[in-house]
Amino acid sequence: MSKLLCINTVAGMQTRADAWRSEGVSIGLVPTMGFLHEGHLSLVDHSLKNADRTVVSIYVNPLQFGPQEDFSIYPRDIERDIAMLAQRGVDAVFKPRTEEFYPADFSTSVEVTELTESLCGALRPGHFRGVTTVVSKLFAAVKPHIAIFGQKDYQQSAVIRRLVRDLNMDLRIEIAPTVREADGLAMSSRNVNLTEDERNRAPALYRALAQGKQRIEQGQHDACRIRDEIRDYIVTELGGTIDYISIVHPDTLEAIPVISGPVVIILAVRLSQVRLIDNISAVPP
Ligand code: AMP
Repeated sequence: MSKLLCINTVAGMQTRADAWRSEGVSIGLVPTMGFLHEGHLSLVDHSLKNADRTVVSIYVNPLQFGPQEDFSIYPRDIERDIAMLAQRGVDAVFKPRTEEFYPADFSTSVEVTELTESLCGALRPGHFRGVTTVVSKLFAAVKPHIAIFGQKDYQQSAVIRRLVRDLNMDLRIEIAPTVREADGLAMSSRNVNLTEDERNRAPALYRALAQGKQRIEQGQHDACRIRDEIRDYIVTELGGTIDYISIVHPDTLEAIPVISGPVVIILAVRLSQVRLIDNISAVPP
């Protein structure tokens, strides 16, 4: 197993990437905010299989958190993350420093419009601008041939595909399926901030999505009806505040009132300290 490189300057990362590129080896990037779990590691495995070198970035990006959001309580454990990545056979961890990444006179942002205006974008102003800005910076530093994102953050993956297409970025985006706990809850670094009671009730989200998918696959075309059923189930079984439940087109993310082709059921629910998001794809008969 090759030794894991820990790189925390942009110049250091670019020099390493240039060296790999001049040797003709391909680079895969998995951007993360750390506190890694099997969901992240499934993206890592995808990169290890599909690229010659794998870089995992770990950076809790302040730009994508709103002032009232959970930046300060976002879980962090860099030592454990590095041990997990070394064990998995990753080649490098890129851990930028905020002083370098966002100097005091930092004044550029990268923004995808339209796709970012609904769903999470409507409730988290500036969030996706923070994501697309940091991802553009990570691409410029790591110079990857492929970058892997999770379907778990469905809107984010659609936004990043659009970013790369619109700005002619020279890399391929791959989306890996959501990894779940045995009870169906989508793995997330934030799950540690659920109370015990919330954690016990949280799998209701996946059950609600799975039931919605089943209804679509049995021929129910009325999106409003399915959304109401999902809403009722979540109110009874989980509680919290429902930010949205929507049935959308897989690429445009536009709400679909009458289901006649592939859709994604997508939702977000706020609990005491954690906002849970999840989604499922469904195809009518
Ligand atoms: P995060 O550290 O939460 O920013 O996530 C980093 C990457 O891992 C993103 O592309 C996420 O979509 C992906 N990811 C997070 N949770 C999961 C999961 N349960 N299954 C698959 N991918 C995930």
